[in-house]
Amino acid sequence: LFLTLEGGDGSGKTTQAELLEQWFTAEGRTVVRTREPGGTAVGVEVREIVLHHRGDIAPRAEALLYAADRAHHVATVVRPALARGEVVVQDRYIDSSVAYQGAGRVLDAAEVRSISEWATEGLAPDLTILLDLPSDVARRRLDGARTRYDRLEAEAGEFHARVREAYLALAGAEPDRFLVVDATRPVDEIHSVIRARIEALA
Ligand code: C5P
Ligand code: MG
Repeated sequence: LFLTLEGGDGSGKTTQAELLEQWFTAEGRTVVRTREPGGTAVGVEVREIVLHHRGDIAPRAEALLYAADRAHHVATVVRPALARGEVVVQDRYIDSSVAYQGAGRVLDAAEVRSISEWATEGLAPDLTILLDLPSDVARRRLDGARTRYDRLEAEAGEFHARVREAYLALAGAEPDRFLVVDATRPVDEIHSVIRARIEALA
């Protein structure tokens, strides 16, 4: 079972991933909780570049760096875990690239997607949970939680508004793969909604 969590920074992906891991573990399943960028040793190095490089990175180069991280992560972590029958709970995947490198950086969404589809040999999630949050609420959450912003978090509100709209469009285009949850709801309510959808998958 391959589950991905998507949404803006501050939308609560990490919290929900932890709750899912606890739940599956209690059910006796083996869970691999992972993330992109940075789910492998190579990925940690790529993450440092894409998040903390001082100076500009050309948008296409940035898109390829995320895709390189993803290719290595899928080949060495995600596919092996799925082959062992484990549950993969993953923070961000291809939809992040379509939203951030596509709508955020204004690259062609279909091209950005096709780079990642090549990188992953077409591996698609069974379910993608979109934690939807207005970008001004996300900003207030981050301002309370951060002492230092990464390159993307430092982008203007307009960038994050484009990212949010792109995510909602992706979810609207693939309703069977997506669950959209209002991320302003209480953490435990969100978890219950997600659980109900996963139980309905089986
Ligand atoms: O979710 P996490 O905080 O680990 O993401 C790190 C940063 O990378 C975030 O600021 C996110 O907006 C950005 N990102 C991106 N494109 C991706 C994945 C993440 O711009 N494909
Ligand atoms: Mg973040």
